[in-house]
Amino acid sequence: MVAGYCTDALADLVAGAGELYGRQRSARFFFDAEPQELRWVLRATDDTVDVTVHKFPDVAVSPDFPDSQGTVIWQSTHPRPAFAHAVLDAAHTVLTEHGEAGYLAKWAMHPYPVALVQDLRRLHIRDDACDLPHDLSRP
Ligand SMILES: [Zn+2]
Repeated sequence: MVAGYCTDALADLVAGAGELYGRQRSARFFFDAEPQELRWVLRATDDTVDVTVHKFPDVAVSPDFPDSQGTVIWQSTHPRPAFAHAVLDAAHTVLTEHGEAGYLAKWAMHPYPVALVQDLRRLHIRDDACDLPHDLSRP
């Protein structure tokens, strides 16, 4: 999946994963794939997260359309700890590869979402029984 830089794609994904730790049981956001809209819908049950990505041909008009008008291009269900850990891992990989300055240079419109990543990591470690390592020294 490729996202253009007009939306803050990594931040939206990390924030969406973090929202599932509160009272909110779902999160939605979209990647601007120029010109397509890739609409992510995350739904939490007691211990799993359903991930669905709907594709719409034209992001200029589709944000008003219901999910059902899009084409489902991804659907999967994960235990919440595994999902959150994968999102953190992806964010960490991006940071390791590019650094904060490199990220901003490449993404241009948005800095690396340091605070959102820290929030998600804190929630994940607090609420999920995850035995995998977490690099606490880095945002
Ligand atoms: Zn973990």
